[in-house]
Amino acid sequence: MSGTIQERDTDVLVVGGGGSGLATAVQAAQLGARVVLVEKNDELGGTSARAVGSVSASLTDLQRRNGIRDSLDEHFEDMGAFAGENVHRDNLVLRRRYVEHTGETVHWLQSLGIAFFGPMPEPPNRHPRMHNVLPNAGAYIHWLRRAALKLGVEILTSTSATRLIREDGRVAGAECTGPDGTTLHIRCTRGVVLAAGDFSSSVELKREHLGEDKSRVEGINPTSNGDGLRLGIEAGGRLLNADLSLWGPEMRFVAPPKKLLVQRLPPVKPLTAIMQLALRFMPDRLLRPFIMAFATSYLAPTQDLHHEGAILVNQEGERFTDETKQPWLDLPLQRDGVGYIVLDRRVAETFTAWPRFVSTAPGVAYAYMDDYRRNRKDIYHEAATLPELAAKIGVPADRLAASAADAGVLPDGTPRCARGPFVALGSVKSWIVMTDGGLAVDEHLRVLDEADVPVPGLYAAGSNGQGGLLLEGHGNHLGWAFVSGRLAARAAVTDPRPA
Ligand SMILES: Cc1cc2nc3c(=O)[nH]c(=O)nc-3n(C[C@H](O)[C@H](O)[C@H](O)COP(=O)(O)OP(=O)(O)OC[C@H]3O[C@@H](n4cnc5c(N)ncnc54)[C@H](O)[C@@H]3O)c2cc1C
Repeated sequence: MSGTIQERDTDVLVVGGGGSGLATAVQAAQLGARVVLVEKNDELGGTSARAVGSVSASLTDLQRRNGIRDSLDEHFEDMGAFAGENVHRDNLVLRRRYVEHTGETVHWLQSLGIAFFGPMPEPPNRHPRMHNVLPNAGAYIHWLRRAALKLGVEILTSTSATRLIREDGRVAGAECTGPDGTTLHIRCTRGVVLAAGDFSSSVELKREHLGEDKSRVEGINPTSNGDGLRLGIEAGGRLLNADLSLWGPEMRFVAPPKKLLVQRLPPVKPLTAIMQLALRFMPDRLLRPFIMAFATSYLAPTQDLHHEGAILVNQEGERFTDETKQPWLDLPLQRDGVGYIVLDRRVAETFTAWPRFVSTAPGVAYAYMDDYRRNRKDIYHEAATLPELAAKIGVPADRLAASAADAGVLPDGTPRCARGPFVALGSVKSWIVMTDGGLAVDEHLRVLDEADVPVPGLYAAGSNGQGGLLLEGHGNHLGWAFVSGRLAARAAVTDPRPA
């Protein structure tokens, strides 16, 4: 009912019900705190539920069982090797905290019911560290939610935090809008933990930090609007590394029309046990169809396709950009932001075997033209001639033919798009996968103000609490979501109470 205000009391208030918020809530409740978690969407999960599900970790039982002798120092150094030219912008205090807690956090997740396979290698990591969740990232949300409810966490979905409540110089709770427009004032004795995800879908924040051209590119999670970052800034916090866009914009194939089997599998223990055995003992040729269904789902096509000659056209059949530069910035300006990658027989035959893959799910698999032909009939279109291909994808035949002719030749004189049969892959769209700007935090995930002083009562976790930490390489964002959530919970519950 709009107009009414409900009052509630708790110890810890968690804003956001993705991976970091749920980890915070479970850990705080395990430490004996009363916890309320608010989630603005109808369902828990956030970007965490859309993820592939890998977590990078060292000193785990799975590493030991596979004979991998890792160390915290090597893990710490390898993270720096991923950072490349941005390495000087990293937060080394948070990197050290992260590395120290990844192993125990994987064990904690396993203790709640979550199953992994791997670890898989990903250079420049010198040891395999990528632990992949089974059967999909929904398992994190399922098991964390279950643990939270068992521990008495109050979960309020369709409830959005809109403003922080400050009392006596301290963040003492949040005003939230619940279903039906109800206003809730949720006060907390211990603190508020902001765990509300990144700003990949906030046009304003993208314009401010990434620039006008990137602000036009959609975020993969349409509800990642940077709410938690705004709340933190209003309370005196500041953003770090918000100008880095390390995970997009990039072009990706649109998602399959139906969720894949692997995405629909329930995270029940007998199933994950069978999957663990199959992944360990089944021959690759039997596993490949299953893995390929996933590896061709909505991944990024390699730019090498264009270096070899493939062209990119819009729904008018026209080339609109230099495909080898930054086509993802021009694609959003086309009708519906949609394009098709068009290639001829020579290019198709090039991308049929290692090392010429069409896409990769890092640490899981590489997909080639044949995999797309078999698994993605919705985006793989083939025809003997360009006019036939144009009819299949619904673009004007004369313009597509003109685009192929205008594409010219490669530096060695080979025509780019000349010999049939022709293939169109698409549609493709541009996306920002995620943003890396987080609130400045100290090693206890306390939000810091302009003078590097903690804002009393305010903590941040996951993307909100990224604090300038660089999470390049796969499996570090979810890893950070869980590690930082647990650390924020510990700090919120154990920090000395205000006098
Ligand atoms: C396609 C894809 C694949 C990925 N795969 C991987 C992977 O395999 N490994 C990896 O490490 N990382 C991966 N990532 C990144 C990773 O998923 C995210 O960085 C991580 O899940 C962020 O967790 P979070 O808890 O900070 O945010 P989220 O999971 O987004 O949770 C934030 C929650 O807060 C809620 N919220 C927002 N505003 C409010 C408000 N005002 N009030 C209440 N609730 C609010 C949101 O609705 C959301 O549920 C992937 C990302 C994408 C897009």
